[in-house]
Amino acid sequence: MAAKHINHEEFHAILSQHENVLVDFWAPWCPDCVRITEAYDQLSKEHEGRLVVVKVNIDDEKELAQQQSVKAIPTLILYKNGQEVDRIMEPESKAIMDAFIGLSMQTEKKTTENVIRDTVIIGGGPAGYTAALYAARAGLDVLLLEKLAAGGQMALTNDIDNYPGFENGIDGISLAQKMKQQAERFGAKTVLAEVFSVDLKANPKEVRTNLGTFLAKTIIIATGANPRQLDISGEKELIGRGVHYCAACDGMFYKGKTVVVVGGGNSAAEDALLLSRIASKVILVHRRDVLRATKVYHEPLMQAENVEFCWNSAPVELVQENGKFSGLIVENVADGSQSLISCDGVFVSIGRKPAAGLFLGQLEMTPERYIIAGEDTKTSEAGVFAAGDVRTKALRQVVTAVADGALAVAATEEYLATL
Ligand SMILES: Cc1cc2nc3c(=O)[nH]c(=O)nc-3n(C[C@H](O)[C@H](O)[C@H](O)COP(=O)(O)OP(=O)(O)OC[C@H]3O[C@@H](n4cnc5c(N)ncnc54)[C@H](O)[C@@H]3O)c2cc1C
Repeated sequence: MAAKHINHEEFHAILSQHENVLVDFWAPWCPDCVRITEAYDQLSKEHEGRLVVVKVNIDDEKELAQQQSVKAIPTLILYKNGQEVDRIMEPESKAIMDAFIGLSMQTEKKTTENVIRDTVIIGGGPAGYTAALYAARAGLDVLLLEKLAAGGQMALTNDIDNYPGFENGIDGISLAQKMKQQAERFGAKTVLAEVFSVDLKANPKEVRTNLGTFLAKTIIIATGANPRQLDISGEKELIGRGVHYCAACDGMFYKGKTVVVVGGGNSAAEDALLLSRIASKVILVHRRDVLRATKVYHEPLMQAENVEFCWNSAPVELVQENGKFSGLIVENVADGSQSLISCDGVFVSIGRKPAAGLFLGQLEMTPERYIIAGEDTKTSEAGVFAAGDVRTKALRQVVTAVADGALAVAATEEYLATL
């Protein structure tokens, strides 16, 4: 059963009537909120009878969200006998949600499957689901492992205007659902599981997840990329409490406040423009003296009355007062001088980094940790293929990710024929 949507009256009634209650505070315009829906609904089914799993739309229930101190979305709060016991913000995987509620670990069976699949695909973005479509249509025994939801980074954007076939553009979540359903039409299966380690040399190859180990003759890696973090002290504990990576999700919590955007590329420019319509002041901190963003962003940013620029500067410290985020210390990259920018929140928009840490030591990688693979998607390990943003390539877009998915299956079939 999908998680039920409730209002504030039902919220108080449910909390007083049930021992264990999980509430997702969300909003329909928040991409990260929509992304977790499938995994959240799955939690609801898995724990039926033991845990009441519900959702509160913060647009409809502003006062309740405020009372519960919701400062970023999605926020998942676990209540026991009417009292909050714990909360997480913006969970990155179903495994994190499972561990958070702590119940599933006691009930799930972790096993090694005794079936050896033709191929296991890791990652359910456009590269992964295209590989699943091609593999299923080729009659291969294929399984796709995805840690959170179909679509990957693509699902974080509302407007994809450069993917052919959609003359009016399409939002990333709808495109992701279409790709998933198309692959499923030919029999491809998805398991929502996070891959923690792999043995790519073993025969068969082993893929270890929070739900157990899966075995395969070949592996297609389509783990994509994640937002790059500032890597300065205090960042992790301030995530969702002053430090954010998604302006479209959390910008509205800064109505009438002062925010900093770190970065100088297209996504930083987009974030600064979006925030300029919500916050009273936006300060864009960039390590150069000119934006890297394409020209189309320059004029609107320069004309926005509440946008200021802090050029040649890099963040070095996040400042807290009484445990609350209060500002950012930046260093001038030219002369080394430091200054404090007092602000209520910081949005980090400094690009992406490949999600390839899992394969370190088992595959050849660039110093930036992209998996080295050409257009044929072949990696340094026989029977292992890398598709999409995770591999070395000139252009990281949906259209190139789907092309890689198809090529990875062609290479997989070629390899399977040699066994
Ligand atoms: C905000 C934004 C806007 C964009 N706009 C556009 C656009 O307009 N047009 C365009 O063409 N491109 C756009 N892009 C780029 C495009 O989204 C990416 O190039 C594309 O999604 C890459 O696809 P992928 O399948 O390689 O990886 P991803 O989309 O990153 O998908 C990887 C998947 O792997 C999963 N995964 C990772 N690690 C594990 C693990 N250990 N276990 C299980 N699962 C795992 C992730 O959860 C994810 O779902 C945009 C990107 C962003 C961030």
